[in-house]
Amino acid sequence: MSGKENAAAADSVRRMKLTMNEFDKAKSPDTYFGCNVYNEQVMRSTLPKKVYEAVMRTRKIGTPLPRDAADVVAAAMKDWAVSRGCTHFTHWFQPMTGITAEKHDAFLTPLGNGGVILDFSGKELIKGESDASSFPSGGLRATFEARGYTAWDPTSDAFIKDRTLCIPTGFVSYTGEVLDKKTPLLRSMDAVSRATVRLLRLFGNDKVQRVYTNVGPEQEYFLIDKKSFDAREDLILTGRTLFGAMPPKGEEMDDHYFGNLTQRVSDFMRELDEELWKLGIYAKTEHNEVAPAQHELAPVYTSSNIAADHNQLTMELMKKIALKHGLVCLLHEKPFAGISGSGKHNNWSISTDDGQNLLDPGDTPQDNLIFLIVLCAFLKGVKDYAPLIRLSSASAGNDCRLGGNEAPPTVISVFIGDDLQLVLDAIEQDKPLDGIGKERFNLGVDAMPQFRKDTTDRNRTSPMAFTGNKFEFRMLGSADSISCFNFVMNTIFAYEVTQFCEKLENVSAENFDAALHELIRRTIRENKDIIFNGNGYGDAWFDECKRRGLPNYPSTVEALMQYDRPEFVELFEQMNVLNNSEIVSRKEILLDNYCKAVGIEAKTMLDIARKKILPVCIGYTKELCETIALKNQMSPMLNISTAVEDALASEISDLTSGLYDAIDDLREQISFASRETTVTIKATVYRKQVIPAMTRLRTIADALEVLIPQDQWPFPPYSEILYNI
Ligand code: ADP
Ligand code: MG
Repeated sequence: MSGKENAAAADSVRRMKLTMNEFDKAKSPDTYFGCNVYNEQVMRSTLPKKVYEAVMRTRKIGTPLPRDAADVVAAAMKDWAVSRGCTHFTHWFQPMTGITAEKHDAFLTPLGNGGVILDFSGKELIKGESDASSFPSGGLRATFEARGYTAWDPTSDAFIKDRTLCIPTGFVSYTGEVLDKKTPLLRSMDAVSRATVRLLRLFGNDKVQRVYTNVGPEQEYFLIDKKSFDAREDLILTGRTLFGAMPPKGEEMDDHYFGNLTQRVSDFMRELDEELWKLGIYAKTEHNEVAPAQHELAPVYTSSNIAADHNQLTMELMKKIALKHGLVCLLHEKPFAGISGSGKHNNWSISTDDGQNLLDPGDTPQDNLIFLIVLCAFLKGVKDYAPLIRLSSASAGNDCRLGGNEAPPTVISVFIGDDLQLVLDAIEQDKPLDGIGKERFNLGVDAMPQFRKDTTDRNRTSPMAFTGNKFEFRMLGSADSISCFNFVMNTIFAYEVTQFCEKLENVSAENFDAALHELIRRTIRENKDIIFNGNGYGDAWFDECKRRGLPNYPSTVEALMQYDRPEFVELFEQMNVLNNSEIVSRKEILLDNYCKAVGIEAKTMLDIARKKILPVCIGYTKELCETIALKNQMSPMLNISTAVEDALASEISDLTSGLYDAIDDLREQISFASRETTVTIKATVYRKQVIPAMTRLRTIADALEVLIPQDQWPFPPYSEILYNI
């Protein structure tokens, strides 16, 4: 062996050893799971017993934490964070922008003699003051009073991110109105707990103190190469492609769903999992999704509030970690036209503090009765408040996806599956359960079938599907916070349960069973129109919706307009979740967000079309014309045909003049919209005039893309973006 070869061999052995060492070092997840979280385990070991118990009472039953206990918690939290390398803390909150916000403060307190101590008080833990004027408030906060407060949410663990102790908080205005997504969710969870504990008492359950709503959100996303991303102004500015002809291969081969992961994607997922686990997030299932370059992550479900925090952190980490692998994570609901978009399936269930899932049909009579009444409250709530559920997933991005035969239609309905349908039919008609059992059905007591769970969960076309022991809401957009849907669903559910309690509390003990039976039967009869077990993508369903009178709000604008209907205000006020001005402000903010999102997209399109596409088309036409002229010059001698160039030049010329008109039209529509001052009218102009003008422009540009040589087209085509990882 030459010296060089020797050195190379030694190097290779050294590297192999290194990898082995790395492998040795790789820790099992249970040794570091939650290591960046100040969780109950850490609290138990760092807090005096009394304080620990006080915090647990606050977390479990909502008893306020005394100030002196808060001081002790703050000091212990700080010591723990500092021991893990933190220098700063921040109140971490979720304003109406849809992303999280933080303002970092150092733990330092000057001593007056030039020195400092590291300090963190209960006051700083519990309440923060923040300039609220840069966050959307929808007119709630007069400009002279720009202060807003962040308030500690003791039910969600503090955690470490970038050497900063992050304290989950709600965010309210100086006058106490809600300005964020967390506070209404917490209030709605209280409402569900109050109402459901009250219901359970009627069934003789005196033990349960608290009822929780749980969520497992399945998060879809795209991963693309950073170089393709950087070459597209539309992706950079809006998160989706505003132009792009369909590639020769889409998803027709079904070869991506659950397919093998490429090395880069696998490395990304591994690192993502590890970082999520350190934050105590139960990331569990990772796989490729239907569309090329699309993936999904599903965590193990947890209580709604924590699931919402975790989902925000998951989205943030996905973006950060992708960059480390030379990738960009796209969370937009529809990054590529013609290719399936991304949603977030929100699995919703409700359980008691002793772990009983109230949506589990179970096999004991008692449980079945509770299951039936809970199911009835759910169905009636969805029927009565369908517009609220629809608007809870409304956004400009999700408008590009919903109703497109890849995501649920925009009409709300509930899928319950054939088994459960048989049960409800039998109850409604007071007849035996044909097909499942032969016994006479007697209020679910002895004839409740064992559910074949797998028959219930494969209807992918329904916005809300019963999947064995939970409801899966499939309308949510991938980029959205899950808070809005969950606080809406919880509030509705709490309201219906409260109504049921009021009815049942008035009947005597001996009439209770009969009254319950009648209530269940009547609720099924009056609300069965909301149930649809067929194919939600077919045209037949749209006709059927009309016949049943189920409302359809095809876009965000129509949906959001419903927010402040008097019956909805009454619902939120009665359940103490939002008041009238908070609802009006949310409507304003969300419509304004919509206008901004569409406005930015429209202006980005204009910019790209004018400065990039138009010049390329003119340039290529010129090239063709020059070729024609040259050929004509030579023609007397060589007799060369210019037929191809003639045809191409004329087709491209025609399209280019169409493009020019479309640009002009879009410019005009944008200026109409921007002149409107009322947000409702402005949003309508964006929806009715600007978006159609964008579609016209895109159609022409995409037709040009397939005619112009690829090396001249100003940005990478779909085939390059979707198939190069
Ligand atoms: P699928 O793709 O078939 O819907 P997944 O395993 O991808 O199934 O996702 C199911 C999600 O539902 C997971 O996040 C899981 O934790 C969650 N889930 C399971 N049981 C419940 C429950 N009782 N309440 C809420 N979420 C649940
Ligand atoms: Mg699912």
